[in-house]
Amino acid sequence: MVAIERLKQFLFKDVSNENELNNISVLLRFLCVLNFIFNCILSVFFSFALQSNLYRWSIAFIVIFGLIFWMSYWEKSSSIVYIYSVAMIISMITYSFALGPTAGFQFALYSLILLYCYKTDDSPAVKYIISVVITLTIISIWIYLTFASKIVEFTHKQDITLVITNTLYLSITFVTISIFYYSKFASAEHKLIKYARKLEKLATMDPLTKLTNRRGMMDHLEAFVKESKNNDNWHLSLAISDIDFFKRINDTYGHDAGDYVLVEIGRMFNEFMKDKGHIARWGGEEFLFAFEKNNGDYAYEELNKLKYQIEKKTFKYKDFVFYVTMTFGLEEYDDSIGLQKTIEHADSKLYQGKSEGRNRVIY
Ligand code: GH3
Ligand code: MG
Ligand code: MG
Repeated sequence: MVAIERLKQFLFKDVSNENELNNISVLLRFLCVLNFIFNCILSVFFSFALQSNLYRWSIAFIVIFGLIFWMSYWEKSSSIVYIYSVAMIISMITYSFALGPTAGFQFALYSLILLYCYKTDDSPAVKYIISVVITLTIISIWIYLTFASKIVEFTHKQDITLVITNTLYLSITFVTISIFYYSKFASAEHKLIKYARKLEKLATMDPLTKLTNRRGMMDHLEAFVKESKNNDNWHLSLAISDIDFFKRINDTYGHDAGDYVLVEIGRMFNEFMKDKGHIARWGGEEFLFAFEKNNGDYAYEELNKLKYQIEKKTFKYKDFVFYVTMTFGLEEYDDSIGLQKTIEHADSKLYQGKSEGRNRVIY
């Protein structure tokens, strides 16, 4: 396991060129390893089965792909792609000329088309031209070799062995490049989704209190009402609350003290509403409560408890110690008038509470 982890780290190591995307270099390392193995198999096959000197070429290619692998740790990835392509073309042409077209070595060049499509720093026109050149090279080799005689003769059985080895090599190469393709786009997609979620959260969250903002609450309430209509027994009571004489807190202790009160109250409300429904900062020093588990009578009782809790809470900011009260306007949701009107009714009750002397819950 440790060895596998080390190998993984070695293959995926960042290139030293800081601005280079390292995934193309990593892909090239995988392809070099594949070519390395492929040529090792071929060298054994050539020396033992074919008794041919062709194994010297295989050893030369093993060295070349080993060098390219090593270069991928420090050379710019786009130059490595070109060097790798040249090595691929030379090796596949050499094998094709030696063994004839039926062995199928020329088809390995198709993997270069995939590789250039994967590369992001070339324009589509360049990708297109390279693809055409590679295709023409494959066709030329094929046509030339059908007329030329091959250098090494082999039996039908050996021919099949070569074709199978080639096909396996080609399939593994294609799958490797495809997996890199997939992981590249999957990770880009993942980043986009994460970013979109972050944006969505920012758009519906109040940065000071970290509570849902008005927009987030309205989205939630609309969805909640729509969903709940299918159920027989559901509850929704809305309450708007406003800090009493909040301007005075700002004027006496400073705006930062006011912010501190909002944060503290926000935290308190969040805790209070955890098992009851939702809470939002409705704007300025106003908060909206959505009681979704029980009826208005229950909400009224709970809000009175909360009102008392606020009244008793000591706010300590720097050297200042002070107290705060709040007024609440509560309204049970009425489907015949809708959300907007229910909120307006709650708001009127809040202002009724203000005019009646503040620090109270009007239901
Ligand atoms: P009332 O009891 O009638 O509600 O009196 P009040 O002073 O609370 O009401 P008023 O609407 O006159 O003042 C609200 C103040 O809330 C004014 C505004 O500066 C302050 N405020 C609004 N948002 C913020 C905020 O994010 N931070 C701070 N510190 N103050 C805020
Ligand atoms: Mg106020
Ligand atoms: Mg206000």
